[in-house]
Amino acid sequence: MAGNIDETLRERGLRVTPQRVRIWEVLAGSGGHLTAEEVWREVSGALPGLELSTVYRSLDALCDAGLVVESRPPEGPRLFEARGERHPHLVCRECGGVFHPEREAERRLVEVLGEVSGGFEVEEVHLVAVGVCSRCSGEEAG
Ligand SMILES: [Zn+2]
Ligand SMILES: [Zn+2]
Repeated sequence: MAGNIDETLRERGLRVTPQRVRIWEVLAGSGGHLTAEEVWREVSGALPGLELSTVYRSLDALCDAGLVVESRPPEGPRLFEARGERHPHLVCRECGGVFHPEREAERRLVEVLGEVSGGFEVEEVHLVAVGVCSRCSGEEAG
């Protein structure tokens, strides 16, 4: 997908604009969770004069197209990342780091929720677990 973002945008019915392409590249390149402002700072180097509101609109369009997913931590601004589906997050209250649980943990979460919810078919889980990451709790050296 990263190979030809233009084509992917068109396939999903989106007009290809330099902003959209550049924003997606920044998110995909970072591999992490960025706020709209962080994206804006990265992108405005290549596209001077770009408004933050345009970045928000482009991000929304990319989300609608299923190229980007947004998540809402309990505090702070929305976070965006180059991933197609919503998923759970672990947020560290010490350093503000945002992490993904292991795939296995995510799979079991979906399974357990379905099992104990009277046949409810869980399709996606976008909960946020707040705690302290292993680096901040000092359990991981270095
Ligand atoms: Zn931390
Ligand atoms: Zn994520």
